[in-house]
Amino acid sequence: MPQIPNITLNDGRTIPQLGYGVFKVAPAETERAVSEALETGYRHIDTAAIYGNEEGVGAAIAASGIPRDELFVTTKLWNDRHDGDEPDAAIAESLEKLGLDRVDLYLVHWPTPAKDNYVHAWEKLIGIRERGLATSIGVSNFLVPHLEKIVAATGVVPVVDQIELHPAHQQRTVTEWAAAHDIRIEAWGPLGQGKYDLFGVPVVAEAASAHGVTPAQAVIRWHLQKGHIVFPKSVRRERLQENIDVLGFTLTDAELAAIDALDHTDGSGRVSSHPDEVN
Ligand code: NAD
Repeated sequence: MPQIPNITLNDGRTIPQLGYGVFKVAPAETERAVSEALETGYRHIDTAAIYGNEEGVGAAIAASGIPRDELFVTTKLWNDRHDGDEPDAAIAESLEKLGLDRVDLYLVHWPTPAKDNYVHAWEKLIGIRERGLATSIGVSNFLVPHLEKIVAATGVVPVVDQIELHPAHQQRTVTEWAAAHDIRIEAWGPLGQGKYDLFGVPVVAEAASAHGVTPAQAVIRWHLQKGHIVFPKSVRRERLQENIDVLGFTLTDAELAAIDALDHTDGSGRVSSHPDEVN
């Protein structure tokens, strides 16, 4: 089994740096896909209430026989459940679907700034953690103003910010703020969601060829060496294997710098939604 490195979070817990994400994995396909991921050696699964596949994740975990403390499971609070006691109901529903009595990490999925209730949602997650329903808590798609607001209001710093991050969209403003505040970065869409020809970019292809790996492996390796937590998604067993088989080579400083230079620093490399516009 691959020895995936652990990253230590600001609450002293650890998270496997490489996992498996199940966005857009159809509910009927999820148990099989997650079972194959667990067989391949993945121990960190990233899901969300809105993905509609928590039951499949739970079924695969239950069938695996893997001890609970060897698994790391993340789910997320959806945007229409920030108000009142809705977050308490939402985590209860997620746990029931997952067949778990706690998740390892619970995230506020998007700030939804037009509703402006994410501070309340964050306060609720603090309570959820205190009750042991989530071991660690964090946020997703939070930009610096959103992070500043929740930390100023509560004094509780999220353990992670899960943001769209790949070579064309490196989010330096957020990542620098996060580093200064001991927040780890989880890179979603680490392969650009297949929405642009990342693998055909010459410096990516050259780095891959220099190490005898695929362009996808070179990009995942770039994330790991940058310190990002990643969970690329595929429903194909051979790609599950390929995406975890990234520990036997190291990109050189020059290769890292060449991929760093692919960033569209004006933000134009974003392939999905801007956090201020998801409401
Ligand atoms: P991704 O960058 O992981 O891209 C997935 C696509 O890349 C797949 O559909 C597949 O076509 C392709 N791919 C995967 N492995 C490949 C390989 N070895 N070779 C060639 N192509 C390959 O995008 P994603 O799924 O959006 O992101 C990963 C995870 O991040 C998600 O599954 C989810 O868990 C999380 N996520 C979170 C948010 C959020 O708002 N918090 C949003 C999107 C995704």
